[in-house]
Amino acid sequence: MSSKYSFVIPFMNEEDVLPLLIKRLRRVIDDLDASAEVIFVDDGSKDKSAAIIAKAINANPEMKLIRLSRNFGHQIAVTAGLNKASGEAIIIMDADLQDPPEVVHELIASWKEGNEIVHAQRNRRQGETWFKKKSAMVFYSILKRLSSIDIPRDVGDFRLIDAKVLNAFRQMPERDRFLRGMFSWVGFKQSIVRFDRDEREAGVTKYPLGKMMKLAIDGLVGFSDAPLRLALWMGVLVSVGAISYGLYILIIAMFTDQLVAGWASTVVILSFLSGMNLLISGVIGLYVGRIHNEAKQRPLYFVLEEVEAVIPTPKGKRAHVKG
Ligand code: UDP
Ligand code: MG
Repeated sequence: MSSKYSFVIPFMNEEDVLPLLIKRLRRVIDDLDASAEVIFVDDGSKDKSAAIIAKAINANPEMKLIRLSRNFGHQIAVTAGLNKASGEAIIIMDADLQDPPEVVHELIASWKEGNEIVHAQRNRRQGETWFKKKSAMVFYSILKRLSSIDIPRDVGDFRLIDAKVLNAFRQMPERDRFLRGMFSWVGFKQSIVRFDRDEREAGVTKYPLGKMMKLAIDGLVGFSDAPLRLALWMGVLVSVGAISYGLYILIIAMFTDQLVAGWASTVVILSFLSGMNLLISGVIGLYVGRIHNEAKQRPLYFVLEEVEAVIPTPKGKRAHVKG
């Protein structure tokens, strides 16, 4: 028997916030018009997070826990949860209560009006640094300009998707994942519900600058070939410059006798050109790296164990392949 609603909630080291999350979820689930399942994905937590969820499952039989064999990153953790979800409407949300569970009622209302993807869009972002907000703004506007699809602004991974969309999503096997791009790319009838993004309830962000940059590059490179075209145009620009300069030298050589000077210009041109070369090979490298990643054909993740209320602590089920 499958439930009507599935919640997919990835977490990594969130022991401080999980008890409150469970409480607030409990209330939201009780208010729903039909049954729900909650799929928690433990993305390689090193603290007591998994134990807290495993314990909560006894009192909340609609909750389940999938533990990944190590930290695979947020986007993969969400994917792991989605692969288990069986509801008619699936809600993806963060564990840190920045995505308030109560907003789910509005997402569901929009789904009932016939929307197949309901993005939750942030009105105001409390407790996030100036740098995070600014860099996100710049990133979203670059992405909008460069990518072939329109990713709604200020939309993270908090959203509801219809089972039809999940089915489409499951056919997208890419390794370097940028979920918000993928959910825009699939099409379907999409809508937006605005909400106020709260401060993190406890703990610190698990998306430090490095991970944010990786996500940004995955988004840009995964959904746009503009960087490659940029490399081409830079090449054209530099060649035009070089040809003009060559002509200039030729004219000087033919009509004057002042050709010996010019060490400075040689150095400038040489360093500019080698800079260009490095930049362009770097851009190409980004795409080649992704091809390499795809070519390896590795599974996206491994599951360490799955915990459900009906089966009391399944010890025998360890590390089987998923993906
Ligand atoms: N998360 C995860 N794996 C990671 C990093 C983060 O499962 O490698 C989870 C994290 O526990 C949280 C959600 O992804 O539930 C969003 O992360 P976070 O709140 O740290 O990001 P931010 O809101 O600061 O962008
Ligand atoms: Mg957060």
